Amino acid sequence: MRPLPESTGVFVIGGGPAGLAAAIAARRRGFDVTLADCSVPPIDKACGEGIMPDGIAAARALGIDLDLAGGVPFRGIRFREGETSVEAAFPRGHGLGLRRTALHRLMVDHAAAAGVRLAWGARVTGLVEDGVIADGRLVRARWIVGADGSRSPVRHWAGLDACRRDSLRYGFRRHYRVPHGSEFMEIHWGDGCQLYITPVGASEICVVLISRNPHLRLDDALPQFPELARRLAAARPSTLERGAVSASRRLNAVCRGPVALVGDASGSVDAITGEGLCLLFQQAVALAGALAAEDLRLYQAEHRRIGKRPEFMSNLMLLMGSRGRLRRRAIRAMAADPRLLARMLAMHVGELSPFAFASNGLALGWRMLTV
Ligand SMILES: Cc1cc2nc3c(=O)[nH]c(=O)nc-3n(C[C@H](O)[C@H](O)[C@H](O)COP(=O)(O)OP(=O)(O)OC[C@H]3O[C@@H](n4cnc5c(N)ncnc54)[C@H](O)[C@@H]3O)c2cc1C
Repeated sequence: MRPLPESTGVFVIGGGPAGLAAAIAARRRGFDVTLADCSVPPIDKACGEGIMPDGIAAARALGIDLDLAGGVPFRGIRFREGETSVEAAFPRGHGLGLRRTALHRLMVDHAAAAGVRLAWGARVTGLVEDGVIADGRLVRARWIVGADGSRSPVRHWAGLDACRRDSLRYGFRRHYRVPHGSEFMEIHWGDGCQLYITPVGASEICVVLISRNPHLRLDDALPQFPELARRLAAARPSTLERGAVSASRRLNAVCRGPVALVGDASGSVDAITGEGLCLLFQQAVALAGALAAEDLRLYQAEHRRIGKRPEFMSNLMLLMGSRGRLRRRAIRAMAADPRLLARMLAMHVGELSPFAFASNGLALGWRMLTV
């Protein structure tokens, strides 16, 4: 029997990272919490599996030490475009390459230890005035959290589909057994697509292709990246290719009545930012605070604030992706002066003010004119 109660304080729909984070945060505020997911753990998903330093800090605010999950630390980001390569370290801390299944396992353990009632294999099929229909029966709930991912049925049932911005890209990931020997997460820029590489094990990397073309697969794109194609030629794929949609989406509202959305259900930034997990950890903490104050307007305001910087960075990276000549010049300028990338990275992880970032933009513009 699945442990679905007749009533609960908070019912979380979806047990991916967002649902687990929201459930843990609500339990830490003393709520009685039930979480239902139609899948069973460990749940895998196409993901770049890179967590930035701000994401590690955001998980820590939930009481989760991601460094204990057996991932691979990396110290910065490397851009590569053709023969040009430039790298920069994070201003503080490190990023982490962590298999999605390992992240899920760690979060499930935390949720169970925190006392969240976990109902795996339980599908939610609708909302009613005072609760949800889960596995065909009514569970009454004071609060309902929709953490059911990018295509969120909860968002639709709650009438929260309206959005200001919505553009899609398509991501495909595969793991390879190969010694990575690099301390950097890599982004390889091409025309119309990017490949990014995260070290996730002693000799395993996660490779993600991302583009606007739903039919473009890793093997089709590799010839555009000869250096990488050479590195992967002798490597053995250790997983099958798995795809997912990456949405850049901002909703008009993320709450209505007793329903609040979190994680990809509540909107998202492009996958190339590597900020999806950081965002949902921060949202979970903000949501639990608003539930405790019995005022979801607080969550709406915090959700907007939390999303601003990643949205800006997402737009900037999408612009770089779509303007080949501009990008090539920018990466050449960064290679001539790597401090420009270091400052961009510092802004990305929230360690540089928008003002300092703007002056960096001017310096980059000047370099682009002179390289
Ligand atoms: C290609 C790609 C690469 C990415 N790379 C990175 C990266 O490197 N770093 C990073 O931080 N972020 C990355 N992201 C973003 C990150 O993966 C997402 O932000 C994150 O997975 C969102 O988690 P979630 O819990 O909101 O949604 P999901 O992980 O999609 O979880 C939703 C859950 O809801 C459940 N569910 C759905 N409907 C129901 C229902 N009716 N009843 C019960 N359960 C239901 C599903 O089974 C699922 O488990 C990437 C995304 C993509 C697409």
